[in-house]
Amino acid sequence: MSFESARDRTAPLTLSTDVVVVGSGAGGATVATELAQSGWRVVVLEEGARVDATDHGRMRPSESLRHVWRDGGFTATIPVGDSPVINVTMGKVVGGSSMVTGGVCFRTPDAVLDEWAREHGLPEYAPAKMAPYFDHVEQHLRVETVTPDRWSRSTHLFDEGAAKSGFRLKSLRRNTEGCQGCGQCNFGCPEKAKMSVDLSYLPRAVAKGAEVWSHCRVEKVRMRGGRAVGVEGRLLSGPNGRPGAKLIVHAKKVVLACSAWYTPLLLRRSGVRHRALGKRMTLHPGFRMLARFDEEVEGWKGAMQSAFSDAFEEEGLTLVSLFIPVSVIGATMPGIGPAHVRNARRMRHIAMFGGMIHDEGGGVVMRGPGREPFVRYRMAKRDRARIPRIVRRLGETFLAAGAREVYPPVLGLEAGLDADAFRRFDFEGLAARRFECSSQHPLGTARIGGDERQSVCDADGRVWGVDGLHVADGSVLPTSLGVNPQESIMAVATRIAWRMRG
Ligand SMILES: Cc1cc2nc3c(=O)[nH]c(=O)nc-3n(C[C@H](O)[C@H](O)[C@H](O)COP(=O)(O)OP(=O)(O)OC[C@H]3O[C@@H](n4cnc5c(N)ncnc54)[C@H](O)[C@@H]3O)c2cc1C
Ligand code: SF4
Repeated sequence: MSFESARDRTAPLTLSTDVVVVGSGAGGATVATELAQSGWRVVVLEEGARVDATDHGRMRPSESLRHVWRDGGFTATIPVGDSPVINVTMGKVVGGSSMVTGGVCFRTPDAVLDEWAREHGLPEYAPAKMAPYFDHVEQHLRVETVTPDRWSRSTHLFDEGAAKSGFRLKSLRRNTEGCQGCGQCNFGCPEKAKMSVDLSYLPRAVAKGAEVWSHCRVEKVRMRGGRAVGVEGRLLSGPNGRPGAKLIVHAKKVVLACSAWYTPLLLRRSGVRHRALGKRMTLHPGFRMLARFDEEVEGWKGAMQSAFSDAFEEEGLTLVSLFIPVSVIGATMPGIGPAHVRNARRMRHIAMFGGMIHDEGGGVVMRGPGREPFVRYRMAKRDRARIPRIVRRLGETFLAAGAREVYPPVLGLEAGLDADAFRRFDFEGLAARRFECSSQHPLGTARIGGDERQSVCDADGRVWGVDGLHVADGSVLPTSLGVNPQESIMAVATRIAWRMRG
C-alpha cells in the first residue's frame, strides 16, 4: 500500500499479514517484492529511516554516515590471535546496505556454487540451476557493463601497471542506469542512477499492496507450538529515535533479513538454538592502496568502481577498483600536522585500488550486554598469509605504472614509500593489527545446507525445526564468495521466495 514511517507515532502499532519481512536490504526487499507480486499480503519492517535521492544530494559524507550507515560506519570486529581489527560497514536505512554499495554486481562463481552443491548438500544450487535466478535479478537491477571509456584515470593507471606485470583488468558490471560518475555511491546516489533495492524492488512491492515501515525495530519472533506466528518489537519513536511504543505483527510466515550481523542475534533472542548459529562468519577482509603519480590523476572523474582482476583467484585474492570522496581519502593520508597537509594537498595526483581476501569463516556473532552484538574474528592462517601478498600485489602494480610513491594500508606509517622503500618494507613481519582492514560483506551466520547438524536453515531458507520461519539475507550463504555479494544474496533470496510461494 505504501511507505510508512513510525518515527512520530506514539500509539502502539499492531498489524496482521500473510508474511512479515524483517529488514529491507538486499535479501529482505527481494523476498518482499517477489511475494507481494504473487498476491501475498506483505509487511516489511526496517529500523532505519527512508532516505531519498534529494536527501543524498543535500548531505555531505559525514551526514550520510550518521543517517544511512549503521553506527556512523564505526562497527568493528574484536580480533582474536594474529588478526586485524576489521571495520565492518553496513547500511541502516530503507534499502539496507544495498543503498550504499558501489553498485558492483557479480554472479556467484561457478566454482563456489559447485562447492555448495558438493560439500554443503545443496544440489539445488548447482550453476545451471541457479542461472534463472541470476537472470531474473539482473533484469530488475539493470545490470550493465562499465566500458573502459568510463574507467577513471586511476583505474587506467592500475591497468597499465597490470599489463607490465603480466595481467589485465576486466570491466565490472554494475546495477546502474544513467550513472553520472559522481563518485558518491557509498553515501547514496543523488541521481537515482544506482538501482539499489529501495528503487528497483520495494516500489514494485508497494505497488502490489505491501506496507514498508521504517523506524521499526524487531526484538523477537513470536512462537507458538514450534511455529513462528509473527514478530514483536518497538517503534523507534522515542526521544532521538530511541525505542518507543510497542510493535506487534501477526503473520502466517516470518522472514528474517537483518543481515549476517543481526539475524543470528534475533534468532537466538527468539529461542532458536543451533551450534552453527552465529558461527563461521566470513567477511572478505579488504585492503586499499593509494599511489602518487607525477601527473594529475583526478581519480574522482569516472565510475567509482569499474574494473577488477581475478588473475589471483587461485591465491584467494580479488582486486577491485574503487575511488571514494576526496574528503574521506584525505582523512586516510599518512602523516600528522604539516606532513599530513602536504600529503592531502597532493590529492589530484592520487590513484587508488583495492583488493579482498576470499576468506574462511573466522567470525562469531555473540550476544552483547545490550542490543548490539560482540563479533570476534580469528583470521585463518591461510588468510593471514594473504595480507602481505595482497598489499605487495597492489603496490607493485602501481609502481610498475610509474607511481612516485605508494601509501600502503599500514597504521602508523608516517609517509609514503618509494619503490625501494616499498620493496624493503617488512610487511610479512608486521602484526596483523597494524594493517588497516575493512569489510562490507558479512556472510554465513545462519547458513543453508543439506545437513541439519551443520546448517541453521535448509536449502529453502527454512530454519530447521521451526515452522513458518525463514532467513533470506547474507546469513544464509554457506561460504564466502571471493566477489561482491549483493547479487548472490538476491538470487538466493529470489529462490527462497519462489519456493515459499510454492
Ligand atoms: C559501503 C558498502 C559498499 C558495498 N558495495 C557493494 C558492491 O558494490 N557490490 C556488492 O555486491 N555488495 C556490496 N556491498 C555489500 C552488500 O550491500 C551487502 O552484502 C548486502 O546488502 C547484504 O544484504 P542483507 O540483506 O544481508 O543485509 P542488508 O542489506 O544490510 O539489510 C539488512 C537490513 O536489516 C535492518 N535491520 C537489522 N536488524 C533489524 C531489526 N532488528 N529490525 C528491523 N530492521 C533491522 C538493517 O537496518 C538493514 O537495513 C557493500 C556494502 C557496503 C556497506
Ligand atoms: S557514481 Fe553514478 S551511481 Fe554512483 S552516486 Fe554517482 S551517479 Fe549515482
